[in-house]
Amino acid sequence: MASLKRADFPLPDLSDERTTEFFAGAARGELVIPKCDSCGAFCWYPEERCLKCDGDAFTWTAVDGHGRLYSWAVVRRAFLPAFEEMVPFVTGLVALDADPTVRIVSYVVDCDPDALAADQPLDVVFRDLRFPTVPDRAVPVPMFVPA
Ligand SMILES: [Zn+2]
Repeated sequence: MASLKRADFPLPDLSDERTTEFFAGAARGELVIPKCDSCGAFCWYPEERCLKCDGDAFTWTAVDGHGRLYSWAVVRRAFLPAFEEMVPFVTGLVALDADPTVRIVSYVVDCDPDALAADQPLDVVFRDLRFPTVPDRAVPVPMFVPA
């Protein structure tokens, strides 16, 4: 497991080759998910083998970024100093329209946290993830907004 002692924690670990393409896609403004070359199933999280057919080759494939709010939590108290300026914020599990079994964990932004509802439509946006504890660094990531 990647060390939590990375100097840029809690930014994503861009050296993890399992998610390199995910973050490269976000930097281009694309939400990309690995798709099995053998059976065509999306595979999320990225795995070494397809959970449906055991295939071992994938193509990172852009999806349209529409989804629905599957579950969420409103974080009102920071448990790490890096998050103190962000609270309250919403972390959500977003089921993609392209394949609702693909559920992306991310932030739901530009919303009233108390007005969120299960299954509500969301659209992807790409925003820089920044933390005051990691000055001068930002990582573009997919986030979601109410549609
Ligand atoms: Zn497969």
